[in-house]
Amino acid sequence: MKKIGIYIHIPFCKQKCYYCDFISFAQKEELQEKYVKAIIQEIEYFLKENQNLKIATIYIGGGTPSSINSRHIEKILQLFAPYQPEEVTIEVNPGTVNREKLETYKKVGVNRLSIGLQSSENRLLKNIGRIHNFEDFLTTYHLAKEIGFSNINVDFMIGLPEQSIADVKNTLEKVVKLEPKHISVYSLIVEENTKIAQMLEKGEIKLPEEEEERNMYGYAKNFLELQGYHHYEISNFAKKDYESRHNLDCWEQKEYVGFGLAAHSYIEKIRYSNTEDLENYIQNCEEGNFQKNKIIQEKQNEFMQEQEYMMLGLRKIDGISIQSFKNKFGENPIFIFRKELNQLVEEGLVVVTENHIKLTRKGLDFANLVWEEFV
Ligand code: SF4
Repeated sequence: MKKIGIYIHIPFCKQKCYYCDFISFAQKEELQEKYVKAIIQEIEYFLKENQNLKIATIYIGGGTPSSINSRHIEKILQLFAPYQPEEVTIEVNPGTVNREKLETYKKVGVNRLSIGLQSSENRLLKNIGRIHNFEDFLTTYHLAKEIGFSNINVDFMIGLPEQSIADVKNTLEKVVKLEPKHISVYSLIVEENTKIAQMLEKGEIKLPEEEEERNMYGYAKNFLELQGYHHYEISNFAKKDYESRHNLDCWEQKEYVGFGLAAHSYIEKIRYSNTEDLENYIQNCEEGNFQKNKIIQEKQNEFMQEQEYMMLGLRKIDGISIQSFKNKFGENPIFIFRKELNQLVEEGLVVVTENHIKLTRKGLDFANLVWEEFV
């Protein structure tokens, strides 16, 4: 039986955040119905062609999955009910969710919510074009708890325009008081052609200095660890046994299949993604031409797979188990990557212990330099 994870992309949002370059649309509401029909066709086709699957995790991301009618989510998840997935996550954003939606999610098997907060400071939320304020987040969070969601992630961002370390402290204190099981801490990345890039160029806003941002990360790490959150991946912290299984599988190079616009898949050593053209995607699904939506990104040979395994594995705080690498590839990573590892150890970015290869504290701050060695 083949074990896979499932990713489902819902590319609709109420409004585009200023920093966003994800595949998501704010003005295509009239296509939502058609889109969901298309994604259902794509899933049904896949499930028919691939019998004997074990689906352990499902992740519904976006966009803002909670911005569409919850009966759409219900219809999609009903397709997977026979597989009895253990972890089913949906991303929700404050300001797009209500009791009825949350109750529907619960009814159809969602057992993990990921709520996009980003900051407790309303002036910072405004700077990045979020549609909600902190009070909206609290309403969503408490409603979710009341309805019975116990496994909740809160997304939080550092490196925001005009953000100070005191803001980071404030948000962390307020969030931790709510006792979510999982907290993600992401750095703002300014992508070209986003509104935030223009605002910076015009001098309307200012980003914290790099060192200040590193201090924010360091503060968040120490604070969350002191509060009993296990730092298990560069950006992710969880209470014991509440790590995201879906994401851990991705970092362990397990197979997954993505459905929907621009969704990525990794199967049989091939990485591919679906088209990013919404109208095309829908049309191809309507015509049953599902293969036409697929764009192959990479066909891996053994060495490429080993490189990627290193890159992904080093995201985890425990790093790469040398034994697991040997079990998977029949080779010793220290021997294959001795040149790269020697250099990274010398630079103080990576440490090699008897059983593991992992990032040092300095390596956490400069992880990009480490990954570059394995591309
Ligand atoms: S909610 Fe997420 S996907 Fe939607 S615009 Fe904002 S950052 Fe982008």
